[in-house]
Amino acid sequence: MRENRLGMSLDRSRSAFERAKRVIPGGVNSTVRAFKGVGGTPVFFASGSGCRVRDIDGNDYIDYVMSWGPLILGHAYPAVIDAVRAAAGRGTSFGAPTEAETELAQKVRFCSSGAEATSAALRLARGYTGREKIVKFAGCYHGGNDALLVSAGSSALTIGKPDSAGVTRGTVADTLVVPYNDLDAVGAAFDAHPDDIAAIIVEPYAGNMGFVLPRPGFLAGLRELTRRRGALLIFDEVMTGFRVAPGGVQEREGILPDITTLGKILGGGLPVGAIAGPAEILDHFTPDGDVFQAGTLSGNPIAMAAGIATLRSLREPGVYPRLSAMGERLAEGLDDLFERYEVPHQTNARGAMVGFFFARDPVVDLDSAKRSDTAFYARFFHAMLERGVYLAPSQFEAGFVSLAHDHAAIDATIDAAESALQALLATA
Ligand SMILES: *Cc1c(COP(=O)(O)O)cnc(C)c1O
Repeated sequence: MRENRLGMSLDRSRSAFERAKRVIPGGVNSTVRAFKGVGGTPVFFASGSGCRVRDIDGNDYIDYVMSWGPLILGHAYPAVIDAVRAAAGRGTSFGAPTEAETELAQKVRFCSSGAEATSAALRLARGYTGREKIVKFAGCYHGGNDALLVSAGSSALTIGKPDSAGVTRGTVADTLVVPYNDLDAVGAAFDAHPDDIAAIIVEPYAGNMGFVLPRPGFLAGLRELTRRRGALLIFDEVMTGFRVAPGGVQEREGILPDITTLGKILGGGLPVGAIAGPAEILDHFTPDGDVFQAGTLSGNPIAMAAGIATLRSLREPGVYPRLSAMGERLAEGLDDLFERYEVPHQTNARGAMVGFFFARDPVVDLDSAKRSDTAFYARFFHAMLERGVYLAPSQFEAGFVSLAHDHAAIDATIDAAESALQALLATA
């Protein structure tokens, strides 16, 4: 039996990965899961409860990936599981309207993933404005959406290729890419194409090149520019929606976009995406308007049930202050620790979203994110894994806390981080 330094076996995960690789490209159904960003074998999970997950070798971890965001209430949250069971018992899909869709909606059109939402949002913005070009930011990720898979973040970065093979030049010919936090570059894009830009799409807090915050004035600047130039502002809040505040970044920062894309938490761990905005814009979707949008499983009743149960639980008093307190406790704990051990770092927390870079200088965009020490991150990741903490398997991802992360879990994480740092620095 192969064992790592702390006696934890990953034998079953290893052989499960070997078997998976024979039938699934790369052994995974979503790129980041392959651990390319940190090396080693992906851990195969068997179950989760609260803030903890168990792998198929029987190892337990405190989880900071939380299915990449949807599980803000924790794994297997009883109210959500009950709602899913009840909905499934009534039938899994009808391809016809159900009342649950209306209950969850506030002028939104539902689809089945974040990528579908951003793709429909672009089409809507183009249809609405009659313009063709889109501005996106390097390092922002908007799902596996061809037109936006240029300088994309997340797993596109993990594999070291922010641009995907198979995306034609024609498909991205109308995608203008500018650095995050660079209003001058956005202004220059409008100067170069004064009447052609349909929309700016932005992760208002970027969570797919690591966790990178907008500089003061950046989002307000985008709002002002788009308004003045007749373009729409799309906030991709698939990750930040219901996470950094009940109303996402737009509520926190007091800046209202024209179109919002949502997903992840909205589906409570089931496949959901949504495009939201004022009726004046949304009504351009078919059947009332002329911008096509459709999906066989859109507004799926089980996903709606999970979403309704999740949002209902999030509405209970004290939820968001608690999430923020946990996020801050984790970020501050790590910050103190890295400080004491003189490890160059940048740490951020907003609500239930946390991130850190092993970087000397502030990270404000993709270039500065890429200057972080990814090799050290990979070693830190594995040292934490051995100590029962599951971080994102890449420096270029954010971390997520849930309602199930309590003081004890956060403090155990900080202790594990101290032990990991001691081990790493001793062998450096
Ligand atoms: C995860 C994510 C997406 C894609 O959502 P999928 O459901 O994976 O298609 C889009 N935008 C952002 C900001 C995301 O974090």
